[in-house]
Amino acid sequence: MFQDILAKIKAYDTIIIHRHMRPDPDAIGSQVGLKEIIKHNFPEKRVLAAGFDEPTLTWIAQMDQVTDEDFKGALVIVTDTANTPRIDDERYATGDFLIKMDHHPNDDVYGDICYVDTTASSTSEIVTDFALNTGLALSDAAARVLYNGIVGDTGRFLYPATTSKTLMIASKLREYDFDFAAMARKMDSFPYKIAKLQGFIFDNLEVDDNGAARVLLTQADLKHFEVTDAETAAIVGVPGKIDIVESWAIFVEQTDGHYRVRLRSKSKVINEIAKRHDGGGHPLASGANSYSLEENNQIYQEIKNILADKKTNSSN
Ligand code: AMP
Repeated sequence: MFQDILAKIKAYDTIIIHRHMRPDPDAIGSQVGLKEIIKHNFPEKRVLAAGFDEPTLTWIAQMDQVTDEDFKGALVIVTDTANTPRIDDERYATGDFLIKMDHHPNDDVYGDICYVDTTASSTSEIVTDFALNTGLALSDAAARVLYNGIVGDTGRFLYPATTSKTLMIASKLREYDFDFAAMARKMDSFPYKIAKLQGFIFDNLEVDDNGAARVLLTQADLKHFEVTDAETAAIVGVPGKIDIVESWAIFVEQTDGHYRVRLRSKSKVINEIAKRHDGGGHPLASGANSYSLEENNQIYQEIKNILADKKTNSSN
């Protein structure tokens, strides 16, 4: 399928690359990494990155201005985005040919070509794999953002999705000239206000006997700590640092009163819970939407049930 994708890239003069809303380093890394690879190998082509410039991530890369006109007769590639409603932005559908490249469970099969590898740690890993397998040259600029994407989605090679192939691909990227140590430091540091918010999370976390944990962040809390919804990405992993915590939910109240639910788990699969509550994602990292405090309680109960089952099973 990589050859089919390459043939399409060769066939089009304008290529527009999208990724998901509320981007993370892998969304931007895969999107801009692919853009840099195409630009490097086919300098005559127009390659544009579409989407909102997330202020906390503009240090990785900035998006391009893309007009409606640009989409006419263009090849559109969407990276790292499981389902069409999450594509940033919706004009992705107005191009001539659509390709999906992703590593999330393929619940929404879209695109004229759909390449999904759920064994990949990140879409940045897939994009690098694509270049290595099709003989396209990487560049320093591509390697920088792709490496960063892999570091982001693997939690610096910590999460179980990190395979020997991930490390091989990261090693190839490290052959290029970019300041990987500075990027790692940037990824591992946070503003002082986030440190304060971490303190709040530790203070307010509710944990049951089986390691099911939850915490609620209201709009008032976000205001108090002067953090945006997007900046809560910096504290999603925090409950998991506690040894007795197994699976957790962070409920973030939105301006319209509903809750964004950020679900994480060390080993027990939790994305089925996300799917039941207007969401989805990876087995151990997913997101959902809740429309009341009762639904928040229901989601927490579902996490508790899963961990209670686990305990029963392992004691059998
Ligand atoms: P987040 O907590 O937003 O970092 O999301 C973790 C993972 O869940 C990401 O891989 C997202 O793609 C996925 N995810 C988050 N929210 C949703 C949603 N509403 N629908 C489908 N997948 C989601």
